[in-house]
Amino acid sequence: MLSKKALNISPSPTLAISAKEKQMKSEGIDVIGFGAGEPDFDTPDHIKEAAVKSIWDGFTKYTPAAGIPDLKKIICEKFKNDNGLEFSPNQIVISNGAKHSLDNIFAALLDPGDEVIIPAPYWVSYPEMVKLNDGVPVYIETDSASCFKVTLEQLKNTLTPKTKALILNSPSNPTGQVYSREELEFVANFAVENNVLVISDEVYEKIIYDQVEHISIASLGPEIKNLTIVVNAVSKTYSMTGWRIGYAAAPVELATAMGDIQSHLTSNPNSIAQKAAMAAITGSQDDVEVMRKAFLERRDFMVSRVKEIPHLDCLIPSGSFYLFIEVGDTFGKNFRGKVIQNVDDFADHLLTGYQVALVPGSGFGSPDCVRLSFATSMENIQEGLKRIEAFARELS
Ligand SMILES: *Cc1c(COP(=O)(O)O)cnc(C)c1O
Repeated sequence: MLSKKALNISPSPTLAISAKEKQMKSEGIDVIGFGAGEPDFDTPDHIKEAAVKSIWDGFTKYTPAAGIPDLKKIICEKFKNDNGLEFSPNQIVISNGAKHSLDNIFAALLDPGDEVIIPAPYWVSYPEMVKLNDGVPVYIETDSASCFKVTLEQLKNTLTPKTKALILNSPSNPTGQVYSREELEFVANFAVENNVLVISDEVYEKIIYDQVEHISIASLGPEIKNLTIVVNAVSKTYSMTGWRIGYAAAPVELATAMGDIQSHLTSNPNSIAQKAAMAAITGSQDDVEVMRKAFLERRDFMVSRVKEIPHLDCLIPSGSFYLFIEVGDTFGKNFRGKVIQNVDDFADHLLTGYQVALVPGSGFGSPDCVRLSFATSMENIQEGLKRIEAFARELS
């Protein structure tokens, strides 16, 4: 019955482990979950109030397909102030989350067989979205030695006449690594020289630590700007994942096509959530800093604890709220009579034996790593790491 497309889609890799976690919880088992993919804070009050006001004001009808002019204008100002980027409102498309922005981009860009370069480890939805839109994902494997970033050599080796675009996600989910200006420059030069579009997913731009700076690759010059589609959202920055507002800035021709596609598929992003997004972007940014500081404190604690645990290692994440831990050293070791063969076994035995749920890297194209979210309470983090340490020390 199903299309080849549907048959070709992998289910979310986080699903199996979270199903097991839920089942254990329902049986009254005390499970510590590190799977969260969203901030654990409430949406700030002034944002909620703007949404409530918009309801009472009757702002409850269809809006223009690509979003309301006022929000587009605010997003243009945000790009100018935060990223040094000049866009006009007709280059902005507001969608139902960054995920929807990405899908619109692929739908508007890809012909059957067009290749999209995806550096691995990658956010789980990129390959599936490319495939759903008839494109071909082409992966570049990266590891901790290169801080999970692509090299120029790798980009050159991956280029074919079919290469249409490259996805860049900095700060990265799942690795937490951030591209420096120099690194972005060689990526930009490669894109310009070879006329490859860059889809730059910047949803974690505000969740960043230490002296690291978030730079949008589009800001490196007019040529790369014309080849870049910048994707962002209020979801992670303002703890607004459920509101579903993301946006893209693209060359006019592409933005127009994305808006037209969206007009037929969803009509428009939610009217109330657009008003809330306006309040989020123009209002006080104090809550963003409160969340960032909490994440930073948890990150520092987690990194220091992981360094004390045998067989585990990690890079310090400079952005996002994920710790990406290398566990390859446990492969071949024994846990209660069973051998850990791979990262899925690691996650499975840890959950069964010590009731800690984390996301195995297999779904991110990273067979040696697991992802732990620090969008959870310090108490959970402390207890969870205590259990992970006991698990690691039990291996023989
Ligand atoms: C969460 C996330 C998104 C999706 O954001 P939404 O606005 O909730 O759709 C996109 N890219 C990355 C890397 C993410 O982690």
